[in-house]
Amino acid sequence: MPIFAHTEFDDHEQVSFCNDPKSGLRAIIAVHNTNLGPALGGCRMWNYDSDAEALTDALRLSRGMTYKAALAGLPLGGGKSVIIGDPKTLKSDALFHAMGEFVNSFGGNYTVAEDVGITVGDVKTMAKITPHVAGTSNGGVGDPAPATAYGVFVGIKAAVRHKLGRDSLSGIRVAVQGLGAVGYYLCERLFAEGAELLVTDLNPKAVTRVVEEFAAEPVGLDEIFDQDVDVFAPCALGAVINDETLPRLRARVIAGSANNQLAEARHGIALAQQGKLYAPDFVINAGGLILVNEEHAGGKFDMAMTYSHIARIGDTLSEIFKLADSQGTPTSQAAERLARARFQKGAQSQAA
Ligand code: NAD
Repeated sequence: MPIFAHTEFDDHEQVSFCNDPKSGLRAIIAVHNTNLGPALGGCRMWNYDSDAEALTDALRLSRGMTYKAALAGLPLGGGKSVIIGDPKTLKSDALFHAMGEFVNSFGGNYTVAEDVGITVGDVKTMAKITPHVAGTSNGGVGDPAPATAYGVFVGIKAAVRHKLGRDSLSGIRVAVQGLGAVGYYLCERLFAEGAELLVTDLNPKAVTRVVEEFAAEPVGLDEIFDQDVDVFAPCALGAVINDETLPRLRARVIAGSANNQLAEARHGIALAQQGKLYAPDFVINAGGLILVNEEHAGGKFDMAMTYSHIARIGDTLSEIFKLADSQGTPTSQAAERLARARFQKGAQSQAA
C-alpha cells in the first residue's frame, strides 16, 4: 500500500498508524496541514473493507478539513482520524482510552471530535486520557446541526442569488434529500422563507414530520433526483453526484450539507459544463465546525457572533462563484484554489 505515492496523498504533514492489540484498536490519524493552526477534525469509526480504504478515507477527509477551516476563516488546520472496526461490536472504554493516548501523542497538533460511528460519549471517554478533544462540553453549545443547517441556508440563498438572480426564496422549489439532524433544521428555515419543499428520507417518520410541519411534498427515495426543482440539497450521503444521477438532475443549483457530494472530482467539472451551480460541500457545511471551534477556543460563548460568522459562508460562496465565472473553472476547483491560497499564505506569514 503506497503512502507517499498514494493518489490521495497531498503533502500531509503526519500520518500515524495506531495499534493497541490489548483493546483491539487499529486506527489512522492523519494531519494534513497546520499552517493556519492546530488540526481539528472528527474521528470516524467504520467497518472498512480493507486497511487501504481506511487510509484513503483518512487522507481525503483530513485534507477536506484543511480546506473547510481555511475557507471558514478559522485558525485551524485539517486533521481526521479513523478507527477500523464495527462500531456496534468493537467499542470499549479500553479502546477509547488507547485512542486518547494516540491523540495525546500529537501534543495538541490534532484535536479529536465526533464523526460517523462515534458519539459524544465516546469522545468523552477519550477525554479522560487527553485534553485534546472538542465538542463534548455539557454546558457548551451542544448539537452542531442547527448551525450547519444555518450555513447551508445562507449558502442556498447566495447560490440562488448568483444563479437565478433572486434575492428571496419565496416560491423557490427545493428538493431535500435526508431529513436528519441537518435536513430538518434546513427545511424549517427554507419553509419560513417561503420555499416549496420536496423531500425524501429512508426514515418514514422523518418524512411525516417535515410534511406536517413544513407543508413539504414527499417523494420516493430514488425520485428525488428527477424533480423539477430549482435547488437540490443533498443532506444524507456522499457521492450522490455521480454518472447515474448527473443526467437526471434538473435543479440549476446543487447546495446541501452532505460531505463528499461529488463521487469524483470530474463530476464537479460535469456539473459546470451542464450550467449547474454547485456550492462546494466543504464550504457550505462549515457551520458546525465554526460552532465547535468557538466552544473549543474557550472564553465566553456568544451565539449572535457565532451565527454572524456562519452567515459569512454566504459571502465566501459568492466570492467562489464569481472566481469560478472569471476563471472559467468549476466552483469545486475555484474553492480548492482559494482554500490553498489561504492556507499557503498562512505558511508564508508564519515564516515571516
Ligand atoms: P443524520 O444521520 O442525522 O441524518 C441523515 C439522514 O439521511 C437520516 O435521516 C437518514 O435516514 C437519511 N438517509 C440516509 N440515506 C438516505 C438515502 N439514501 N436517501 C434519503 N435519505 C437518506 O445526519 P446529519 O447530521 O443530518 O448530517 C447529514 C449530512 O451532512 C451528512 O452527510 C453529514 O456528514 C453532513 N454534515 C453534517 C454536519 C452536522 O453538523 N451534523 C456537519 C457537516 C456535514
